[in-house]
Amino acid sequence: MPYKFTFDLSEIPRFVFTEIAKAGYQKGMHRKVGVAADRLIRKFRIQEVTGLNLSDAVTLLEDLIDLQARNLVKREKFVQTKKRALFLPHCSRKYMDSRCKAIFDPSMPSYVCQHCSNDCLINKADAFAHQKGYDVYVVPGGSCIQEIVKNNNYEGVVGVACGEEIHLSEDMLENLGVVAQAAPLIKNGCANTAFNVEALLKML
Ligand code: SF4
Ligand code: SF4
Repeated sequence: MPYKFTFDLSEIPRFVFTEIAKAGYQKGMHRKVGVAADRLIRKFRIQEVTGLNLSDAVTLLEDLIDLQARNLVKREKFVQTKKRALFLPHCSRKYMDSRCKAIFDPSMPSYVCQHCSNDCLINKADAFAHQKGYDVYVVPGGSCIQEIVKNNNYEGVVGVACGEEIHLSEDMLENLGVVAQAAPLIKNGCANTAFNVEALLKML
């Protein structure tokens, strides 16, 4: 699902994402995803808030609902996994230039966050995930993930990325026997992107 549009849902109230999660649950019960997306777009005036046209808003909401549904299907297996990794996208760092003090370690390959900014999403996610026993990678692209997972024998993976990257990694992880949970970006664009930290922390 490569998006041909940019979007920013970061100003949308958090309870809307609860509604999206509920719609994902209902999809798991064979409700129609298109109908649910349409209902949410109208109810929460997604087009007015984001400036997206109807077709792009439908694509986005359907994907978010679909990802929630797939997370739910795999959740039980995921909680049984022991060795886990969190993959974060480099595009969500607070700074994309030298103000970001993360050190790139080509042997991993991953940025290693140096916690220079308290309000950086990567910092928050990295600190929490380490406490929970995850290995954390801030990757420059999804292509690094396969090598990292293979080299470290992870059983469970949580991945934060745009929908396109999530879909590219999904089959690969399944083929490796890894159980994955996905946290989609709520603002895309490959720089200064955003994800829902609260939702991610719950997922971990
Ligand atoms: S907190 Fe980490 S990821 Fe964020 S800008 Fe600083 S070093 Fe970079
Ligand atoms: S928006 Fe997606 S494709 Fe672009 S850098 Fe971030 S995760 Fe990668």
